[in-house]
Amino acid sequence: MKASLQTLEQHFATVVAANELSHAYLFVGPTNSGKMALAQWLAQRLFCTNLQNGQPCGQCAECRRIVEGNNPDYLVISRDTRTIGVDEIRGLKQELSKSGLEGRQRVFVIQDADKMTPAAANSLLKFLEEPASQVVIILTTTRLARILPTIQSRLQIVTLQAPELAVREQEIQQLGVDSTFSHVLSATQFSLDEIQSWMEQTDLTELQQIFWRWLQQILTHKDLAFALVQTQLIPNFKEQKLQQLLPDLLLAGLSDLFAVKFALARPLNWTNQQDNLQQFANQLSAQQVTELLEIVLQMRRMQEANVSFQNVLEHTTLQLLAVLD
Ligand SMILES: [Zn+2]
Repeated sequence: MKASLQTLEQHFATVVAANELSHAYLFVGPTNSGKMALAQWLAQRLFCTNLQNGQPCGQCAECRRIVEGNNPDYLVISRDTRTIGVDEIRGLKQELSKSGLEGRQRVFVIQDADKMTPAAANSLLKFLEEPASQVVIILTTTRLARILPTIQSRLQIVTLQAPELAVREQEIQQLGVDSTFSHVLSATQFSLDEIQSWMEQTDLTELQQIFWRWLQQILTHKDLAFALVQTQLIPNFKEQKLQQLLPDLLLAGLSDLFAVKFALARPLNWTNQQDNLQQFANQLSAQQVTELLEIVLQMRRMQEANVSFQNVLEHTTLQLLAVLD
């Protein structure tokens, strides 16, 4: 489902009225698309004491306390820091074990859930597998690809419309980038200027081929994958921004692999790799596919910690290969 904030409020009004609210949602959308506004609206819709035609009034004590962050049944985990750790999730679970006022529903929001460490994500996963009644958990993120697919599969995904993304994809195409790669790049944080400068310095078609050759070698468990780091990846991903792009490409590819393996109904990032992905998915176990994805998240963290590109690549390649042992 992909819609504007207003449409989604209408949708959730119907869902709540029909008593069909799910226990866990993932709100996906770019910054300022209204993810938190929707979460807040939903809490108000549940707690408002003065509903107006099914809409929260925004004025009553309950509605106001939600906006002021002062309602014990509407809790938001929001961190300015880089990560959300396992302690925050434990604290959340402790809160969850308490029941709400007069047994009413409680709403918990994890803002920027992509900041969860793998340990935190796993801890949350356990909860999502055995949800408490009367609790709605809402995760928000700007980047779906950064949420572990194992978590994604436990949530209802609600996408807030980003008309600018389709526009961006078109703008990237107008730079001369092929349609698949434009689609992949549109979901990354890189600016048009940066992509333009890659176009001038690098053959992006060849770059994709190199990336896929490497990934194919890994997924078919060939030792050549390690050699390709030296001979192909390092010489061709020279520029620092391009080096930062590589985990995005890998995550997009492995998320696709996960989607194919688990037959998730969502469009692929690498639309031109469907056949390859199907073949890889057939050869790998569900467990392996899941483990591969977790390694990519570690890869990005290594890069953010300023580990050298070569070390990051070699380490990641070995780790990915080890999953297939
Ligand atoms: Zn109200």
